[in-house]
Amino acid sequence: MTQKVSIDMLEEQLLCPICLEVFKEPLMLQCGHLSCQPCILSLPRALEGQLLCPVYCQGVACSPLAPSIVVACVIKVL
Ligand SMILES: [Zn+2]
Ligand SMILES: [Zn+2]
Repeated sequence: MTQKVSIDMLEEQLLCPICLEVFKEPLMLQCGHLSCQPCILSLPRALEGQLLCPVYCQGVACSPLAPSIVVACVIKVL
């Protein structure tokens, strides 16, 4: 019997830590966390050129933010 990851479990991994919904236009922060583009844009700025990571509340450089293509593809097939 092969074990498959259920869609529910997968979806939990694809929730934005800010809006708690499945990512829209996911972007990857410098620390490796993901968030949707509109949410990242609404984050408070820690310092000039830095964002506050929504998960660890630490300042991370806000550029460059790479779109997470893999995650975007997974979300599309959900
Ligand atoms: Zn979000
Ligand atoms: Zn982070």
